[in-house]
Amino acid sequence: MNEVIWDVAIVGSGPAGLTAAIYATRGNASTLILAGEKWGGQLMLTTLVENYPGFPEGIDGPDLMLAMRKQAERLGARIEEKNVTRIDFGKQPFEIDAGSEKYLAKSVIIAAGASTLWLGVPGEKELIGRGVSSCAPCDAPFFRDKKTAVIGGGDSAMEEALVLAKYASGVTIIHRRDAFRASKVMQDKVFANPKIKVIWNTEVTKILGSQKVEGIQVKNNQTGREEQMALDGVFVAIGHRPESEIFKGLVEMDEKGYIKSRYEEYHSATSIPGVFVCGDVFDKQYKQAVTAAGSGCIAAMDAVSYLDNLGTVGQNG
Ligand code: NAP
Repeated sequence: MNEVIWDVAIVGSGPAGLTAAIYATRGNASTLILAGEKWGGQLMLTTLVENYPGFPEGIDGPDLMLAMRKQAERLGARIEEKNVTRIDFGKQPFEIDAGSEKYLAKSVIIAAGASTLWLGVPGEKELIGRGVSSCAPCDAPFFRDKKTAVIGGGDSAMEEALVLAKYASGVTIIHRRDAFRASKVMQDKVFANPKIKVIWNTEVTKILGSQKVEGIQVKNNQTGREEQMALDGVFVAIGHRPESEIFKGLVEMDEKGYIKSRYEEYHSATSIPGVFVCGDVFDKQYKQAVTAAGSGCIAAMDAVSYLDNLGTVGQNG
């Protein structure tokens, strides 16, 4: 047992968690970030981020996260690259198990983010890492001069297709409807790229191949016609699910697992006093790095205000 009682423990280290840490330390709260074994969140899997304010030429996702991490650490936050496995919100201070350690904290900010959704079709799980991917910035160079497909119609799918088009001989976006939900600027880039074509109203029913991806089976949901396409790579970009599994049964969440914030006395309050939420684990609508960062700021200010009201901020115990 680690005997330090932290004012604020933050679960997660994406833009929400790291911004929360920056604001909590500035509020004189001793701050622990349980960052996960893979710290930094989804921006660690992207390349150029062009819509985060303050970077006129854009900034690479991992560079942005490293800058946020350094800022949080310089201001005094302690970061542990460990996965949280269990939390007891029934005790005060709260008890948090991460790695082989147990941590104690007077308040907790849940900033656990979201992770990739998969199609769930036959062949997909077996071929992840063997031609099935969800991260073009990570894996696109393996598909130089190869035939690839991207599944989805949101900004992620557009981004994946544009990255892949730099390497692959061709990219086919397969979308289940006849219109993308992606922003117009991303759609325009896709439509202007001669390497990218789009197949509408079509769903993937199977991923083919034994040792590696050899193709996919698709079905047109208007005509019912099924066909097979030969491919080397399949990039799934159909959205994300909140990383809220370890909080199930502990805090209120909706049917999809998004943790509910109460917007009452404290904007970011959850159903447990002293537990706050921010970022993609509660935001089902905006999901931007900058909105995550903004909500991290709110959660930290709420946590510090909660501790101030208890009169315990900055005291160990
Ligand atoms: P998203 O906007 O939820 O889009 C998911 C797409 O996948 C939709 O087109 C959806 O189809 C499709 N889809 C969902 N489930 C499917 C299934 N089972 N089978 C086939 N298709 C399925 O997710 P996202 O693209 O990951 O974006 C999430 C958020 O992050 C958005 O707010 C987006 O703007 C943001 N984002 C921004 C950037 C950027 O600005 N550069 C980059 C990436 C993401 P329907 O359209 O039919 O529902």
